[in-house]
Amino acid sequence: MRIDIPEANPEAVPEAIPEAIPETPVPATTVQPRRAVLAMPEYHPPLAGRNALRLDFNENTLAPSPRVFEKLKQLTSEGMTIYPEREPAERLVANHFGLLPTQVLLTNGVDEAIHLISCAFLEQGDEAIICTPTFFMYEVSISLMTSEIRRVQSDDTLGFPFERLLAAITPKTKLIIVASPNNPTGATVSREQILAIAAAAPHALLMVDEAYFHFHGETVLADAGKLPNLIVARTFSKAYGLANLRIGMLAGEARLISLIRKVSSPYNVNGVALAVLPEALSDEAYIAWYVEQVRSGRERIFAALRELRVRTWPSAANFVLMDIGPKHKEICAAMRRRGILLRDRSADPGCEGYVRITIGVEDHVTRAIAALGESLAEIEWTPAEGRGRV
Ligand code: PMP
Repeated sequence: MRIDIPEANPEAVPEAIPEAIPETPVPATTVQPRRAVLAMPEYHPPLAGRNALRLDFNENTLAPSPRVFEKLKQLTSEGMTIYPEREPAERLVANHFGLLPTQVLLTNGVDEAIHLISCAFLEQGDEAIICTPTFFMYEVSISLMTSEIRRVQSDDTLGFPFERLLAAITPKTKLIIVASPNNPTGATVSREQILAIAAAAPHALLMVDEAYFHFHGETVLADAGKLPNLIVARTFSKAYGLANLRIGMLAGEARLISLIRKVSSPYNVNGVALAVLPEALSDEAYIAWYVEQVRSGRERIFAALRELRVRTWPSAANFVLMDIGPKHKEICAAMRRRGILLRDRSADPGCEGYVRITIGVEDHVTRAIAALGESLAEIEWTPAEGRGRV
């Protein structure tokens, strides 16, 4: 498969990203939001100045299937005037995954799926369990509904804290979110563990976020329509390369899905995404090709980092976490100067000094490996600086 890879333009990459504008205090008479809105954390991903090789957001680094773009060219001007119809695409998705249409809900990315689940199931006082470090949007959506977030922290291995998660379940637990593979660690959760969690908390909804499923290959999607408290989330933002179109899905038992559907807007997924989805799903050769690029690239990155004596953690996703230590900002800046974006994960719990690199297609991995060697040399990094010390 031949796809032209656009060159990044390092000149266009600003050195620093502007900070958010500080909020000014409001008089007491001003309309106030719910207390939870004032208390909830905000997610500000560093989206500015990304005209470079994007190894910072775990996106597909290249393009979706060429069939997607062909379909886009056929869309008409009149088509833009019509409200999108989600149902036909849901039937198609259900058929593709061996589920019933009532067991599937398309969403505006998994981001919206998390939000809808939180709105549908959580009340103030309910407990929700997440395993940190993990995807920050869980915390954002949960804390909009309840202040009782239980964070089960991984140890230094960054593996899934299975036993401690089981121990954190109480009669008040209403939602458990588990990502497999997890972001930013790349750690996985086995099917046996997921079934054990679902059985240990029959009064709670268990959402398994399989955003990075393709790069791992193991799934509990087939269990989703069967267990009464399991919901599986998938995204089309990663392997399928459709992050810009905002489309994801939830799969689960029909009753659960109907409750979440009730909370969603009927037009939550735009018609462009719905129109190209059948093309993206049917081009299995493209997905197989992209996944293979990532899997072999991941091995190359691991080998290069071993040689450079940078500590990493096993990853089943399209990214690898690196232990850089105190020079975490410097490595990101040095890579940025070479036109490559990394993501500093130092602010994540237990991740002080850790930096994440997305794995893309072969050429992107080659450039990343060369730039990593140069950048580590430029900042005079030594293996003793990593917290784990290789
Ligand atoms: N889940 C995880 C674990 C993620 O890392 C991400 C994106 N970074 C998402 C969900 C969001 O996916 P989407 O683009 O479908 O909203």
